[in-house]
Amino acid sequence: MKTSLEERFRKRLIKFGKKNILCRRLAAPVLGAGLFLFHSAAYLGGNVKRLSVLALTFLLFVVYSSFSFPIFAAGNGSGNGLNPVSEEAEDIELAQEREIDLENLELPDDEELMVGEEYAELSLENSDEWISASEILDAVGDTESAGGRQDASSYEDYEFSRDDWKLVLVNKQHSIPEDYEVNLGTIKTLKGTQYCDKRIIEDYTDMLRAAQEDNVALEITSPYRSQEYQEMLFGRKIKAYMGKGLSYMEAYQLSGQAVNVPGTSEHQIGLALDIVTPGFRDLKEEFAETDAGRWLAENSYKYGFILRYPLGKEDITGVEYEPWHFRYVGVEAATVITKKGITLEEFWEDL
Ligand SMILES: [Zn+2]
Repeated sequence: MKTSLEERFRKRLIKFGKKNILCRRLAAPVLGAGLFLFHSAAYLGGNVKRLSVLALTFLLFVVYSSFSFPIFAAGNGSGNGLNPVSEEAEDIELAQEREIDLENLELPDDEELMVGEEYAELSLENSDEWISASEILDAVGDTESAGGRQDASSYEDYEFSRDDWKLVLVNKQHSIPEDYEVNLGTIKTLKGTQYCDKRIIEDYTDMLRAAQEDNVALEITSPYRSQEYQEMLFGRKIKAYMGKGLSYMEAYQLSGQAVNVPGTSEHQIGLALDIVTPGFRDLKEEFAETDAGRWLAENSYKYGFILRYPLGKEDITGVEYEPWHFRYVGVEAATVITKKGITLEEFWEDL
């Protein structure tokens, strides 16, 4: 009688097992699994249809399950994955349920994060450098200011319009309008080039000149940041948080508090200034207590700038108190907004 392959294999194994008791114990489960696979393959092998259905089911399972891991979403990097879409907003809500120990969440500093080609390229056109007011004034030349700003009328009767480029509202609920045209001008200083909406340059430099005359030293980064740069800043924050063990969704949520989600930053339209002073270069609340912080809070409106995120209005602006961030809205609106102690959101509601 002809013995089958399986039978011969079994006989040999039994013979081997009798000689080596330890091996037999170890081999039993392996042998069991082997036999199971052998029989399954033999059974399915004879039925192509059944085999393909099984393979397809397995494939679907693998594909479907891979989408439910947030890590795959993170793989999208700084591109489309970061757009503030509603589906993500839902996930963020869910992420809030887990408590995050913010106190102990120390992020690596910016320099550690700013390595890599991608950053090097972006930083060419987006200077992170603080440039002093005197260097900026040197660059624009010694044009006399338009004869000292008088704190004249209150502009209560002025006709404001939502269509005015100066009053465009940009926040978490209002991203930059798609047809918005950024009107960039440049100020080339010895330390680097600043970009901002060219229509604000005169008021901007008038403000710097006035501060200088009052012996207040100011330093400003480039008012304009491109969408790519904003995405880089945002992606960098997400990476840093994820490096601290947070999920992508948690990192996204926290990053949104620290850096504006791309498309919702006033810096992208060249109308916002971040200002510090040589003795205090941190973007922190305490800037308000410096001479520069106080001078700006009192005088910036005369040149068309408002303190955009005031203390106590966080629930309206959706942004923490930022005494260093100033937004150009034009002298008329800035005067009304500052005198009334309201935010751009509140002003805009009434238009
Ligand atoms: Zn800012």
